Amino acid sequence: MSVKHDILSVMSQWAPEDTAEAWDNVGLQLDTQKPIERLAIMLEFNLDTWAVFNEYDYDFVICHHPLIFKPIQRLGHDEWQDQVLRNLIKKDIGLYVSHTNLDRALDGVTDMLMRQYAFDIQREEDLSNGYGKCIELSEPAELHLLLDKVPAVAQIIPNELEIKTIALCGGSGKSFVQDVIKSGVDLFITGELGYHDIQTLRQAKVGILLLGHYQSEAFICEGIKQRLEHLEIEIDIIK
Ligand SMILES: [Zn+2]
Repeated sequence: MSVKHDILSVMSQWAPEDTAEAWDNVGLQLDTQKPIERLAIMLEFNLDTWAVFNEYDYDFVICHHPLIFKPIQRLGHDEWQDQVLRNLIKKDIGLYVSHTNLDRALDGVTDMLMRQYAFDIQREEDLSNGYGKCIELSEPAELHLLLDKVPAVAQIIPNELEIKTIALCGGSGKSFVQDVIKSGVDLFITGELGYHDIQTLRQAKVGILLLGHYQSEAFICEGIKQRLEHLEIEIDIIK
């Protein structure tokens, strides 16, 4: 069996493509028949990651955020997405995307986010079909101790908040605000939220820690690399 076949089977067993959201676009976005000896893993493909990528001879890329998202109606020269896609086609480089299917997968983005903080967890359950996690800590946590573990770029914390339960979700937590409020947790840790999401949570007295979209997901690249390390190819993570 080819390396491409092995990569696709590892990825689709871990995060089946049919578990992605209906609005999402995941899977093999650019197929190639050339043998794969060097693989790159990245969170997003743009002109910056392309510049790094292009310094080496990669044959295949696994990317978290879809390069092809909306149906392509024309391929121009001006948009960065078009330029990256053109570059990939010219060099016959394959592209596989695992996005919302990987967010909710077992040991996927949200699981890895939760685990990297090594909280002392008494109980955990899924939030919003597995896109998030709700955890109950063994002991209530003080905010300053929590902040030693969680490198938040912004915090919106109600006065005298005691933190016993936490909801977590990598990337944008926007779609899950109502579920977070319904779950009755004390704190929501996510990558990013909009102004109105923050107001809604604030009125419900839920504390918020924002990590940054990239920062809340970047570690999944290492997770993907570990899954594929048994293949006899070179694998690099591009930041
Ligand atoms: Zn994301």
